[in-house]
Amino acid sequence: MAFQEHSYRDTWVEVDLGNITRNVEQVIRSTGQQLDVMAVVKADGYGHGAVRAAAAAVQGGAVFLGTALLEEAIELREAGFDLPILVLGRTRPEDAETAREYNISLTVFQKEWLEEAAACMAPGQALSVHLKTDTGMGRIGLRSDEEIIDFLETVSSQPAFDLEGIFTHFATADEQETSYFYRQHERFKEIVELTGKIVQLPPYIHCGNSAAGMRFPDRCFTMFRFGISMYGLTPSAEINEELPFALQPAFSLYSRLVQVKKISPGESISYGATYTAEKEEYIGTVPIGYADGWNRHHSTNGGYVLINGEKAPIVGRVCMDQMMVRLSGPEETGTKVTLIGKDNGTEITVLDAAERLGTITYEIPCMISKRVPRKYISSRN
Ligand SMILES: *Cc1c(COP(=O)(O)O)cnc(C)c1O
Repeated sequence: MAFQEHSYRDTWVEVDLGNITRNVEQVIRSTGQQLDVMAVVKADGYGHGAVRAAAAAVQGGAVFLGTALLEEAIELREAGFDLPILVLGRTRPEDAETAREYNISLTVFQKEWLEEAAACMAPGQALSVHLKTDTGMGRIGLRSDEEIIDFLETVSSQPAFDLEGIFTHFATADEQETSYFYRQHERFKEIVELTGKIVQLPPYIHCGNSAAGMRFPDRCFTMFRFGISMYGLTPSAEINEELPFALQPAFSLYSRLVQVKKISPGESISYGATYTAEKEEYIGTVPIGYADGWNRHHSTNGGYVLINGEKAPIVGRVCMDQMMVRLSGPEETGTKVTLIGKDNGTEITVLDAAERLGTITYEIPCMISKRVPRKYISSRN
């Protein structure tokens, strides 16, 4: 899973770990230090590198780690993290014993799952589980009071399991319109009250993602799950202006020009010859393409890069491993190219890149492939 240590190419992601630490510290401060923070590092830390991101988040005060998959949780344990880790997705019951051996907490929401898992587990330390309830996301989780009561009675009668948490997930916490969010929150509150009548309430009660943790900390019970904004990215464009503190983005993407040439009017660039110069132009070749997760649609919708603080439009189609940009003059081969990040006071944000592709911030760092090495810095020291 780890990104390669050595690289022979001049295209790289720079991850500022100090900014991850800072975002966690800031969010803890903004919630009045009332809530525990789970650092969500699924999908290799949203493309930043799970182990490095988790370490930076723990330094900032995170007390729990969250992943989507059991293998992602095991990677963290094997890297030496000894704080609690929750797998947020469903794990197969036959893999419950592996989770128990690694002391990894699992998300559960099926009564039969408990029976199947118990049958596969060796005696000893109980497996920590968090009950997932579906209050309106419609993805995974128990929905009705009857199912929840039945599940809680089963889990509490089984010594193989320790109910460590109960949680839900919001579908619209990042939207201006809050009525659906409030309805989900109300339902979860009812479920928590119901749970307290059936069993002793578990120590971790959590519903918030980044958006909810930052906007509605007083509705987050004991902990929230801090994903996208831990990396300094906004959950959505529409709440970008109302966040409680300035997020510090950790992710930048850079390359270097590998060739610069002058072309004449009428000459064309790249597959399909879709771009034709109208006058004499300088064209630079940048060694990044769609196999690196630099989508072909970056060449449409006004995509550009920064070179010496100036915009250089992407011209012609993005290829698998390379693309071309129009330069304002005869730049040197080796000149730094900023695809995402700051350059001489100008900036291309992850949100800019996302909006260019008609997607959300989350997808941009996740889609920059493993072929692009991650280099780590810390602006903090
Ligand atoms: C990914 C995920 C999160 C993190 O959400 P962000 O919007 O990135 O903060 C929280 N909870 C669950 C269940 C998730 O799958």
